[in-house]
Amino acid sequence: MNKTALVADRRYLKHFAGRVHPERPERVAAMIEMAEHLVRPDLRTYTPREAAFDELALCHRADYIGAVERTAAVDRFDFDPDTHTSPDTWKTATLAAGGVLTATETVLDGAACNAFAIVRPPGHHALPGSAMGFCFFNNVAIAAAWLTRVRGLKRVLIFDWDVHHGNGTQDIFYESPQILYMSIHQFPLYPGTGWLDQIGAGAGAGFTVNAPLPATCGNEEYLCLLDRLLLPIARIFNPEFVLVSAGFDCHYRDPLGMMRVDEQGFAAMARRLKHLAAECCGGKLVAALEGGYDLKALADSGRALIEELGRDADDPITPAAAASRALPIIERARYFLEPHWRLD
Ligand SMILES: [Zn+2]
Repeated sequence: MNKTALVADRRYLKHFAGRVHPERPERVAAMIEMAEHLVRPDLRTYTPREAAFDELALCHRADYIGAVERTAAVDRFDFDPDTHTSPDTWKTATLAAGGVLTATETVLDGAACNAFAIVRPPGHHALPGSAMGFCFFNNVAIAAAWLTRVRGLKRVLIFDWDVHHGNGTQDIFYESPQILYMSIHQFPLYPGTGWLDQIGAGAGAGFTVNAPLPATCGNEEYLCLLDRLLLPIARIFNPEFVLVSAGFDCHYRDPLGMMRVDEQGFAAMARRLKHLAAECCGGKLVAALEGGYDLKALADSGRALIEELGRDADDPITPAAAASRALPIIERARYFLEPHWRLD
């Protein structure tokens, strides 16, 4: 069995959001170039498929899907001040959603242990009825909904380390106990959601876990949050599949975020999530590219992630030290979450 599947395709370069737009084709080109230089006999690259209408409709309204499709006939359409189309956007966006599905199918059906889908445009701000924040279709949310509604899984974890809060993903699953959505993000920052008291509603109460951090936090704070808040809850949840919204805009070089995570930090988070997946679901984990706007940070972090996914899951983990800026967040998060999770 291949240890790690990569999903990558130069067709992801075709969506063009504007001449000075940070979400630019070079992002994926830098990732593909990095991956081509990896010497890894266990690594196999898969060609993504396009998501079908019914798959997009797992998370999006039919009228909105039609609205995105119609943009293929015009030079440019502005869904919001940041989210612009080109004639190839519709096809590229269906290929991004389909690419995460390709990765998810490959892992679920046992052809690979885990996978990384290098896709664009990103997805986690996309709402059921609208594009937002560079995102058109919520690629990771569609994969999660496909796992539960098409393939019958009962519990899927979405772990989102993009520097921005994944408001679209949160919104789509806010009342669902089948999807545990966890996000570490800079706060305050676009889109302004993701405070500690947003924990889900109805049957989904407790199944949204937000960890907002102030600007300039880095590896120490992120790993402290994982070890002392997020992973203990994820272990109780006991996911049957782990999806990672892997945005690399919390990297210290990123021009949009103000965090200080580095390659070692991404590898350390990936190692922890890989251990969680090994404990709970035979290692089934798919990471998908979300944000990340510095090309060197993208390539270096992507390489660190792919290398970590290829290592054995019994590599040791050094528990994170108590990070003084993370501890008050953990304490306040526990106040909201303790009615729903038995935390020691
Ligand atoms: Zn982002």
